[in-house]
Formats: sequence, structure tokens, C-alpha cells
Amino acid sequence: MTLDGVGPSIARRLAKLGLERVGDLLRQRPRRYEEPVPAKRISELFGEDEAVLDVTVRSVSSRRRGRLKLLTARVADESGEIKATWFNQPWLEGRLAPGMPIRLRGRANRFGFAVSSYDLEGEAETADFAPVYPASEDVSQKKLRELRAQVLGLVRDAGEPLPAELRVREGLALRADALAALHRPRSLAEAELARARLAFDELLVLRLALARTAAVREQASAEPFGASGQLIDSYRAALPFELTRDQERAIEEIDADLAQTTPMHRLLQGDVGAGKTVVALYALLRAVETGRQAALMAPTETLAEQHFLTIDELCAGLGVRVELLTSSLRAREHANVRSLIASGDALLVVGTHALIQKEVEFRDLAVVVVDEQHRFGVGQRSALAEGRSPHVLHMTATPIPRTLALTVYGDLDVSELVVLPANRKPVVTRRIPEERASEAYTRLTRLLREGRQAYVVCPLVEQSETSRARAAEAEAERLRAYELRDFRVGCLHGRLKTADRRELMARFKVRELDVLVATTVIEVGVDVPNATVMIVQEADRFGLAQLHQLRGRVGRGAEQSYCLLVSRPSEELTEEAAKRLDAMVETTDGFVLAERDLEIRGEGQLLGARQSGWSDLRFVRFRHDHDLLERAREAASTVPDDGLLADEVDALLGDAEHVGES
Ligand code: ADP
Ligand code: MG
Repeated sequence: MTLDGVGPSIARRLAKLGLERVGDLLRQRPRRYEEPVPAKRISELFGEDEAVLDVTVRSVSSRRRGRLKLLTARVADESGEIKATWFNQPWLEGRLAPGMPIRLRGRANRFGFAVSSYDLEGEAETADFAPVYPASEDVSQKKLRELRAQVLGLVRDAGEPLPAELRVREGLALRADALAALHRPRSLAEAELARARLAFDELLVLRLALARTAAVREQASAEPFGASGQLIDSYRAALPFELTRDQERAIEEIDADLAQTTPMHRLLQGDVGAGKTVVALYALLRAVETGRQAALMAPTETLAEQHFLTIDELCAGLGVRVELLTSSLRAREHANVRSLIASGDALLVVGTHALIQKEVEFRDLAVVVVDEQHRFGVGQRSALAEGRSPHVLHMTATPIPRTLALTVYGDLDVSELVVLPANRKPVVTRRIPEERASEAYTRLTRLLREGRQAYVVCPLVEQSETSRARAAEAEAERLRAYELRDFRVGCLHGRLKTADRRELMARFKVRELDVLVATTVIEVGVDVPNATVMIVQEADRFGLAQLHQLRGRVGRGAEQSYCLLVSRPSEELTEEAAKRLDAMVETTDGFVLAERDLEIRGEGQLLGARQSGWSDLRFVRFRHDHDLLERAREAASTVPDDGLLADEVDALLGDAEHVGES
């Protein structure tokens, strides 16, 4: 169905907010509700203070001013009359009629009264608690409210997944009522009840999904591993550093899991740079040394390639061959890699979740490492869990409270890397306004002269990988001509062939290049300790999780590192963008940043959500919903997994298979 006032351009901008379907609009959670403001009479309006008016419509007219559609209504109360105006709400015209009472919220200005929200008779009131949605620079709050007003008519079609008996026992509202109240609450208490009902549904569906996958997993048995052997000895000997205490402990825990006849089901958690890769590769090599197969699954092609490059380098000295399976391989190569996997000749494979789970037959898959799983633990596809039963290690940089991890991943074991490798100095981070960007480059060139290397991260253009690549090339050209003309500048982006990218990285690593101009493909995996400076252009456009990941590329050696965030001046930034940048300057701690991210974006989101799928839990408030968590867990053990509820579980599990390029 299409909505009034949504052309292709608005649709694209909505999609960027994750609003693609009408249901997405219905389920978008307001970040907060506006405080009520005093109700006034028209004669009492003074200055530009916000006010609420209870008035009657006298007449309605509309006109265009350029691209703006202006709707005007003369409205009156017993004290006087005023002209109320709405922008771009053509459908409202048909609903306003002379004589109709209406409640308006807005501000008086010299043209009349500019309406920000309103209630028509017979509808729940929102003028007092108007929802504030997570808007963007592209889609205004106003637009979102207008769209919501339209889709609210559809809530009755939303269906009711809970059996009546459960719903009554738990004292929960109907889902349709909850959705309506979410967007048009009569009080804050009503809004909270609505949220809780919707959060309960999410948790219940999640628990049911986990129960389904757990049932499969519990029947699975795994081949137990004996003691480690020669290859592991060489691997440890080849590492150029001592493992941290936490890494050693994680390895012991993994060894203990591998000795069991039930499959390992463990989460390895550690901030960016904590050294997860070393541990993950240990688990993979345990399989390889027994002649059985191991796979590393990444959420996107780019990440798979980055992992491949890192691991391939570590493995080269060990004589272990690593295969990369991505959809950008030519058909022949792709088929070739698949047949190597099927025959068991390829022992160590890196690819995306989607590829490995769907297209590939392993001969004898023994260990799987899953990086930043998209949809909780439930995406564990049956193809892996049923017949074969490999040992599985999930790996995440998303700082998840432990209780929550258990809830959303199921009852898995957790290994944490808390201490960072000892040689780290916190990265010094600075905000630099655009007009003083030249200072950033002055700093950069000074450090380059001292023998350091650097990254320049290009602005985040939300288009295709191809246009991102083109923009990066152009920027590299410009820098070669101006700011960095005395230096050797390479350009890294997602459109390079793997071999070219590998060569570029190799040249950067041996210092044949001083600077790498890059798109966000450097977010993960790139690992050059001598690179100690990063300039992020238009840093205000990046999310906090992404900035944290990017910054993780510097500060990997003993030298002091710098991260320079170039952005528009504070006055031009959204409040949120300014807060993100401030947070980056204040701390390098991923946990603290995650907390800050929750505050800035609202509870439903968690750092790293973009990659890990946490954003699927829109309504759960991680720090408050323990009680609800328990109730949903109990309900999940009694409620039948059928009907609409089962459909929603299917959808959640099915979604796990959509692992697109981010
Ligand atoms: P993560 O994947 O957790 O972000 P990595 O595994 O990529 O972190 O490790 C970050 C960097 O730290 C890499 O350069 C890696 O070689 C290095 N590293 C890992 N473990 C140690 C250690 N124990 N001591 C010193 N450096 C380490
Ligand atoms: Mg890593």
C-alpha cells in the first residue's frame, strides 16, 4: 500500500531509517513523548511559547508555495479567532470541516498559529503527549508524525498473536490497543503500558525462537577433541606477543568445550582491539590440525574479506591454506571453492553467514566461528545444527550485559576479554571544525614525516558501494594533488578486487604507502600498528558504533595514536551528532560508549546494532525489563508455538537468512 505524501525520494529516505513497510511505521518506537504544555485561550497567546488550544474549525483552505503545500484553517474559541497552519498535509484537508472541534499544539507566530500536533474529535489525544520519533536530517519529525497519523487507521489489521488466556493472566492490553496507545497515548503511563506489552511480545517470540533452535541443538552431538598438537604449538610460537590473561582463559574454556560430546555454544565478547581474532583462530586451527574443517562466518562480504586477509597472513607461516568464499568470486572459482569444501580438501574457509549456511556442503565441519551474528543466536541455521553439529563460537564486540546475552543468545557460555593487550595507549581524539580541517592535515603531515602512517576515512555516502568507491578515488586524487602531495597515497574501497586489496594492504603494511584513503571498509580487520593517525571526514555523519570501530584501527602499537574527527561546526550539527562526537572525545571505552549510545538514541538500540541485529528488539528496555524478561521466559514454556505467534517466530528465524551487504 502507498501512503499519501510518500514519493520515491521520501520512500528512500524512510528506508534509511529502517522504515520500509507500513508495519515498520507502526512498530517504530517513539524515543520520548513531549511534555504537556499549558492549555490557553486564543486571546492569551503571547510570544512564541508552546501552547495547546481547544478550538472549533471555522473554515479551511489550502494553497501551494513552491513545493510546500500549506493548509490553513481559521479556528476560534470564545476569546477570539486565529489562523492555524499545517505544512504538507494534504489529506488533512478532507478531514477538517467547519464546526469541528480540534485540539492543537503549536506556537503562535506573526502569521497565526503553527501546528506541531493535533487531535481530531473521537481520536485519542496526542496534542499533550506527542510522540517524538527518531527522525533524521532527511526525514523530519513532522513528516513522521503525519505518516503515523495515516497508518494508525490500520492497527486493527495488525492481529493479536497472544492467546486470550495468557493475555488476561499477564494483564496485557490487546496488541492493536498497544500500538494505538504507543503513538497516541493519553498519558505517559498509558504509553509505558503499551511499550511493555510490545516488549513482552518481542521477548516471547525471541524465547520461542530460541526454544526451537535449542531443541535442535540439544539433540546434536559433536565429535570430542583430544589434546592439541603440533600445529597449535607452532601457532602459539609464531605469535609475536604474549597472550593476555583473558585470552589464555578464553582458550582454556574453548579447549574444555571441545573435549565434550555436546557441541560448544560459546560467546566470545571483547571490545574492539581486545584480541578476539587470535582466540578465534585458535579454535579454528584446533579443527584444522585434526584434518577436520573449520569456518569463519562474517556478516558481510567486506568483513569476510577483511577477516580472510588477517587470517590468511597468520596462517601463511603455518602452511595452512585459507579459502575465501564470497559472491564476488567468478562462477568458476566459486564452484571450485565449493567443491574443495565438499571434498574436504579445503580445511579453513572464510565467508559470509549466508554463503556458508546456504550454498555449501562441508565434508566434515568441526568448528564454526560466527562473527557479529545478525539476529541473536537464533540464526543458527539448521543445516549446520542438524546433521553435522559443529562446535560453535560466537564472536562479538557489542557489549551486552550478561543476563541479556543469555536471554537473547539462549543459554550459552560466555568468555570475556576485558583486559586489553598491555602495550596500548588510549587514542587521543579531537573534534576539528571543517573550516580548520587544514590543521588536521598539518598534524597529519608532521606525523608522517616522523615515519608514522595514517588513514583518511571518506565521508559516509549512503549510496552504492560503487559510488562510495568513486568518491574515495576522487578524494585520494585531490589529496595527492594538495594536502598530501609529498606522500604516497593509496586508496582502499569495497570495489577493489580481493587480490588488489590484498596487495594494497601489503604495501601499506611494509610502508610503501604512507596514507590509506578509505571508505568504511577499513572498519574491521585492518591491522597496521605503525598507522597512528586517522582523520575521519564529515565525522558527524557516522554512528557511534561505526566511529568506535573505525578508531579501533589506530592505537594498535606502542606509539601514541590520534583520531581527528573533522565535522561541521557545532551550531550546524544536530544535537545527537554533537553528542556522539563529544562521547568519542571523552572516552575510548566501548562499554561507556555503548551506554552513551543508548542514552543518545533511546533504549532500544545498542552499540553495534547495525551489525549484530540487536535493533530487532525495539521495545525492550535493557536496563529495566528484568521482570518482563522473566515473565516472557515463563510464558514461552507454556504457550503453544502456533498461529500468528508461530508466524512471528518464523519471521524472526527466517530473517536470520537475510545477510546483506551493509
Ligand atoms: P579484535 O578482533 O578483538 O578487535 P584483534 O584480534 O584484531 O582484536 O587484535 C587487535 C590487535 O592486537 C592486533 O594487531 C593483534 O595482533 C594484537 N594483539 C592481539 N592479542 C595481543 C596480545 N596479547 N598482545 C599484543 N597484541 C595483541
Ligand atoms: Mg578484529
